[in-house]
Amino acid sequence: MLGPQRWLFKVNAIIGPIIMQIPGHIDPVVTPRVITPRSDGRIDLMGLSHLQIRQLFEESQLDEKAAKLRSKQVFHWIYHRGVTNFEVMTDISKTMRPWLADRFVIGRPEIVEAQVSSDGTRKWLLRTDDAQDYEMVFIPDADRGTLCISSQVGCTLNCRFCHTGTMRLVRNLTPGEIVGQVMLARDALGEWPKGNMASAAPDEDEDEDDDVGHYTADGRMLTNIVLMGMGEPLYNFDNVRDAIKIVMHGDGLGLSRRRITLSTSGVVPMMARAGEEINVNLAVSLHAVNKEVRDELVPLNRKYGIDELLRACAEYPGISNARRITFEYVMLKDKNDSDADARELVSLIRQYKLPAKVNLIPFNPWPGATYECSDPERIKRFSSIIFEAGISAPIRTPRGRDIMAACGQLKSSSEKKSRAELDRLAEEKQAALG
Ligand code: SAH
Ligand code: SF4
Repeated sequence: MLGPQRWLFKVNAIIGPIIMQIPGHIDPVVTPRVITPRSDGRIDLMGLSHLQIRQLFEESQLDEKAAKLRSKQVFHWIYHRGVTNFEVMTDISKTMRPWLADRFVIGRPEIVEAQVSSDGTRKWLLRTDDAQDYEMVFIPDADRGTLCISSQVGCTLNCRFCHTGTMRLVRNLTPGEIVGQVMLARDALGEWPKGNMASAAPDEDEDEDDDVGHYTADGRMLTNIVLMGMGEPLYNFDNVRDAIKIVMHGDGLGLSRRRITLSTSGVVPMMARAGEEINVNLAVSLHAVNKEVRDELVPLNRKYGIDELLRACAEYPGISNARRITFEYVMLKDKNDSDADARELVSLIRQYKLPAKVNLIPFNPWPGATYECSDPERIKRFSSIIFEAGISAPIRTPRGRDIMAACGQLKSSSEKKSRAELDRLAEEKQAALG
């Protein structure tokens, strides 16, 4: 058997260098190695797939058969039962448990702060091992509970109405940091099953209604996940994909892909891959119906325009009336909220024959924002024009505004930037887009 130091050396050798140039990405992005030994030499298994755990076990000298069996058991304990201690893994022999604990840990993101809004929304400020802060939000509703998770610390993009966009991109989150958010939410909600695996199996028979997400028969609160926190998930696709695969795995968290929604600002070259490799629900941050306004609001539009984006939506695998694409549309006073805008939105959806619904998001203000939210009457009128055309266009009720947990309000650093600094950062990000 290898001593701890030699063993660590071997593990480093199989994990390779820091990755990352993404098609369509404006810049290579820093992504920490997925398997990074901690300062005590142990490896955090959080976010690793069954196969990766098995390979690590083989690397640390378990024979093939034992590695296969043990990795399956450990995977189940970690992701289905939510345990963080090898000692409680009762189907693993008592002598094997310290062997595991000497080499591995089962981690969670560190909680820096947990807040609860007057409407029940909960927000957590989390910290990575290298002291980067990011946020996650849980939104309980009458019949469902939605966890909004982050994919990056900050964002390279600079949508002008979004608070996260005023941060620099610090780095991509690893699969462990992404899955870790879901694990932490389950911990906080006290939702780990005590029984056998059957209760967490994905409901493959779930009917094809796209409105799935009601509380499960066993009364779990966390029923849905949305990738709508900090960052652009399609700029960190490999890690997001690996994390989501674990979340969907029947021996793990077992959430159906129909309960998971990925929101993108329109990274067209990555949309097909997302459809093929995870095929979760797609939400697209459209926010405007013509080039001039969308160029201003979502600067990525200068790279991938509305037509290209809607064509990619039409080609997204598996869309149908039962699995519609969601268009997110933030309501900004006198910017994108006229009757003519609503009619143009309907006409675009029809032109591309998109099974779609529109989520109208009242703009959530943040310090330094240059936009105002449309008046409630205007939003209602906008919504009714779209409804009258036969397309669902609900108005999203803002949640957690009092703790800055609502859409677009997330921003982990406490620094306050002046107007001039905000403008300079916007220009820098714009220049990076080319
Ligand atoms: N980067 C991804 C996902 C995170 S943002 C994306 O842009 O789609 C999640 C949603 O919140 C997006 O639709 C985004 O446009 C919207 N949003 C951002 N800032 C907002 C604000 N201040 N008020 C309301 N919605 C906002
Ligand atoms: Fe980034 Fe999304 Fe915010 Fe745009 S809206 S800056 S893509 S997090």
